[in-house]
Amino acid sequence: MIINGSEIAKKIRTEIKQKVEKLDEKPGLAVVLAGDDPASEIYVKYKEKACEEIGIYSEKHVLKKEITMNEVLDIIERLNNDEKIHGILVQLPLYDHLDEYRIIDAIYPKKDVDGFHPINVGNLLIGKESIIPCTPKGIIRLIKSTGEKIEGKNAVVVGRSNIVGKPVSVLLLRENATVTICHSRTKNLKEHTKNADILVCAVGIAKFIKKDMVKKGSIIIDVGMNRVEGKLYGDIDFENIKDKTSWITPVPKGVGPMTIAMLMQNTLECYEKT
Ligand code: NDP
Repeated sequence: MIINGSEIAKKIRTEIKQKVEKLDEKPGLAVVLAGDDPASEIYVKYKEKACEEIGIYSEKHVLKKEITMNEVLDIIERLNNDEKIHGILVQLPLYDHLDEYRIIDAIYPKKDVDGFHPINVGNLLIGKESIIPCTPKGIIRLIKSTGEKIEGKNAVVVGRSNIVGKPVSVLLLRENATVTICHSRTKNLKEHTKNADILVCAVGIAKFIKKDMVKKGSIIIDVGMNRVEGKLYGDIDFENIKDKTSWITPVPKGVGPMTIAMLMQNTLECYEKT
């Protein structure tokens, strides 16, 4: 069966909208765009649109290529001290000359709506309350939407990035799955993926996971967003695999809409904590 991420995300957005309508003051999200990846512009547009629909105040800071590190840090500092702003999101990737880690470090952890600050990452790892990165948070919601238990299952995550692979592995571990993390140096990848009751793939290669790599009856979450000749593909060879699985997310309309919905939820949570 197909996990309809768009529909689940829509429901969550409606719930958030209803909560926001009851607030005296609007939650505020600042998005900083300091990079020239064309996909980033599209993602930022989706995020702005979602804020508008839900009633979250949003402001966008589009920074020119000539911007210096100190100037970016000044902007972050201003946003940290701006009472209208409850969440700060720095859209990645950044221009090459900017230091991603120093910029994320500069965000107040309580306004780190993406959950990328080392304090939030550390709290996630040790199981304390923290802001949870949007894509991994959405993935867990999608798996839970199937009604299947995560506890005790073999979960295999392909990809170990800081924004998807690592945090989703920690969240699956928190849900008591037995977690294997695979990456570009993993030997015999298929031996791992074939053993997965839950397979999360965040690699960034179109149709990377083939039918002979998955277990019959498994749950498959496709994080990949790969544009090939203008068309969007996931990391999973969806058409050939879908009948072998018990649940699978499509691309588009799977993980992507959930990421935006979780960003809205995180913005509301940041607001509620101030
Ligand atoms: P990264 O490029 O940061 O990470 C890719 C990971 O895949 C790395 O850990 C890399 O291993 C691993 N990898 C690369 N090649 C192989 C291989 N041949 N075998 C096994 N593992 C491999 O990507 P992201 O995590 O940022 O994103 C992954 C995908 O998810 C992209 O398509 C991206 O667009 C999409 N995405 C979608 C989102 C959504 O909301 N739907 C949100 C974020 C990302 P190593 O570490 O060894 O290099």
